[in-house]
Amino acid sequence: MSRPTCNHCHYPIKTCVCEAVSKISCQTKVYVMQHPSEVKEAKNTVRLAQLCLPNLEVYIGEEPESFKLIKNLPKENTFLLYPDENAAEIENLNKKSEQKINLIILDGTWKKAYKLKMKNPWLSSFKTLTFANLPENQYIIRKAKRPDSLSSLEAIAYSIEVLENANTQPLYNVLNKMMGSFIKH
Ligand SMILES: [Zn+2]
Repeated sequence: MSRPTCNHCHYPIKTCVCEAVSKISCQTKVYVMQHPSEVKEAKNTVRLAQLCLPNLEVYIGEEPESFKLIKNLPKENTFLLYPDENAAEIENLNKKSEQKINLIILDGTWKKAYKLKMKNPWLSSFKTLTFANLPENQYIIRKAKRPDSLSSLEAIAYSIEVLENANTQPLYNVLNKMMGSFIKH
């Protein structure tokens, strides 16, 4: 028998995070390409981010047909967050103040993200972004051993902070709530 889960956040009732959820209003649109193995991951931070960000869409899959909508996003204002050798630093992105940015995130372990990128060569038609300064890692459950294995939620929060100077505290609040629950139970 499965444990009863909250209808809104989909966490087990005992670890429901809803009381910590508040919405962020921002212009940046986030498109997450999620490896299927992340979906069942209890500590899936994209699911948390989605509770706070109305502008976040998740597409699950590995093959190009799962991501057709992302593939057709305009090249001039859509960026893939991926630290390859050509990646521009997000902190120094020369963007017009009114320009809305679409951000593509590969969600999964570093290895799975790499695999997603290899299986979807069309991604190389988008410019890539990386971080010049890494935000401090608050995510202690899945210990990140490399700077680029920052949780997806933190990568999203930091990107929005830098791109539009938005207050992304709600994202950290819900992350902390989830971490607190996992430590307790
Ligand atoms: Zn809930």
